[in-house]
Amino acid sequence: MFVGAASDKPSKQQAQAIVDILNALDWDDGITRPSKSLDPDALWLSTPSTDRAVIYQELLERHQTDQEIRILFDKAREAGPHFGLPCKSKPGNPEHRYQVHSKSPFRVRCASLDCGSKLQRTALVHWIAELVQGAVLSADVLEG
Ligand SMILES: [Zn+2]
Repeated sequence: MFVGAASDKPSKQQAQAIVDILNALDWDDGITRPSKSLDPDALWLSTPSTDRAVIYQELLERHQTDQEIRILFDKAREAGPHFGLPCKSKPGNPEHRYQVHSKSPFRVRCASLDCGSKLQRTALVHWIAELVQGAVLSADVLEG
């Protein structure tokens, strides 16, 4: 599908295929909507190997139980900026970082008391995939 003379510029068909993949994954992170994927400047369109949907699949294949997702969360915190895993509502604010909220089912919550952002397991894996794709987290979290 991505083979072609201008492989770094997705055709309309290719872009539509990506939107369809995201829709199939029930992508609802509330920040990035499928239409935004059509933005020709989007990083992940020029680098198909770090396609967010692929990252998400890779993470999900290896992290399904509460314990596995906990391990992924710990790795993501280590791979993240010095203050840990950024909060979805205020990713650039060091006071906003996720910490464990519940072990079973595994859930995280922002450490900032007046924030209240919480992520359940699937949303957390989505968020980590988004951060890896945006190069906020190093791709090390994909290993092991
Ligand atoms: Zn927060």
